[in-house]
Amino acid sequence: MEKVPAAPMPSFPEDLDGLERFVLACQACSLSETRNQVVFGEGRGTSGLMFVGEGPGADEDRTGRPFVGRAGELLTKMIQAMGLSREEVYIANTVKCRPPGNRVPSPEERKACFPFLEAQIRLLKPKYMILLGQTAAQVVLRQSAGITRIRGTCCELPEYPGIKIMPTYHPAYLLRNPSAKRDVWSDLQTVMGWMGLSRSGEKEGK
Ligand code: SF4
Repeated sequence: MEKVPAAPMPSFPEDLDGLERFVLACQACSLSETRNQVVFGEGRGTSGLMFVGEGPGADEDRTGRPFVGRAGELLTKMIQAMGLSREEVYIANTVKCRPPGNRVPSPEERKACFPFLEAQIRLLKPKYMILLGQTAAQVVLRQSAGITRIRGTCCELPEYPGIKIMPTYHPAYLLRNPSAKRDVWSDLQTVMGWMGLSRSGEKEGK
């Protein structure tokens, strides 16, 4: 895999609420000119699981919440199939403002917004991360491989010590390619195994 070097980490507020207030006023890239709302992220993350998607779509831009459109409904079902609720996980995106027409965020936009995602990860301290789709996998893993090649491949990175990371397909891709749901369910089951979860959400062995 071709590694992309990490940018130096700027300093931000050292709590999630402060970081959110900071990001809500961000104008660091041109997406600030066309957004209606910044979509920072949501959830309590008490399960230790964090999802990272690509960026807000029209519904998210309208509501200010991540994954609330059709792809969001599917993500909610995926979370519930793992025996969890949306409140128990944390959901964020690689960019916090909607790219016009739902295009893929440009390298400049990804680079401008990445420090916020890194700060979210640092403050939340998740134990597990599921990367939804190619953009999230490329941004978080700092590599350029296609999602088809790396999905289902667990990794841990020195940049994120102690976090098990699983790249898989984005729910929007599953809406277009339902046959890929089997692969995603396999990836989710792997993560459930890490978390000691049965399908009912109970910790196994109880
Ligand atoms: Fe700032 Fe990120 Fe929005 Fe760009 S996408 S304006 S970097 S919050």
